[in-house]
Amino acid sequence: MQFGPWDVQIVSGGTFRLDGGAMFGTVPKLVWNKLYPADEENQILAATNCLLIRGEVNGQRHVILVDNGNGDKESDAFMARFKFQGRGVLDASLAKLGVKPADITLCILTHLHFDHAGGSTRFDANGKLVPSFPQARYVVQGKDLADAKQPHLRVKASYLPQNWEPLESAGLLDTVEGATELLPGLSVRPAPGHIEGLQNVVIEGGGRRLVYLADLIPTARHIQPAWVMGYDLDVVTCVDERLKVLEEVSGTGTFCVFEHDPDIPVGTVDRDAKGKYLVTPTSL
Ligand SMILES: [Zn+2]
Repeated sequence: MQFGPWDVQIVSGGTFRLDGGAMFGTVPKLVWNKLYPADEENQILAATNCLLIRGEVNGQRHVILVDNGNGDKESDAFMARFKFQGRGVLDASLAKLGVKPADITLCILTHLHFDHAGGSTRFDANGKLVPSFPQARYVVQGKDLADAKQPHLRVKASYLPQNWEPLESAGLLDTVEGATELLPGLSVRPAPGHIEGLQNVVIEGGGRRLVYLADLIPTARHIQPAWVMGYDLDVVTCVDERLKVLEEVSGTGTFCVFEHDPDIPVGTVDRDAKGKYLVTPTSL
């Protein structure tokens, strides 16, 4: 779908599975399992819905990727633990749209957790870890990079240095501080709660608006503001931030992207007569 100069599409980085209890925090399984059935190991299917944004601005062509999934470089044991769909999914998704890794000019990373930034690097033919998108700049919030380098024990397992160290070594990793317009109509803004350095991506153009929610609201089934994840570090901030964003998008037709939802990657948000938030699935 076109947003001013920007052509925006969802690209899949592949599915994986996460513990349903961890994904729904204090929500009872009796409630969430009806909406989101768990498998025999209590895991639920999670997508990595990335965004591909293409457009020409001021005579310059941009091919932009927002997040890049789990990547292809982890061990078979790691992949089995999270039931990864397989290797090469993001490359295949991009190829279907006529895009090669070397075409990407900018990678926006909502944060550096492995299920969002794992595709940033890969092994080359000599077994060396290199940037997956060698022509791209990568951009993340400075706060998140700082936290990734000195992670709190509580989130250490999600911040894997192999996902950003090769970017830094290659001089391709940029940081921004707070809300920033990266290109005309294309902005990032902080969305703290899940982690302090999380950022959302906002695209505006041609009378349309899109918010890429990342782990602020990971699936359409997390639309109730208090249904935060067990993974969220600061749940009170997370609920407040969700309320702020939901208030902003509700009833406006804003396209909301749910990064981890395997069934509803995109929806619009409204409130019913009782004030409860509802998602109407749509597509780009
Ligand atoms: Zn995530």
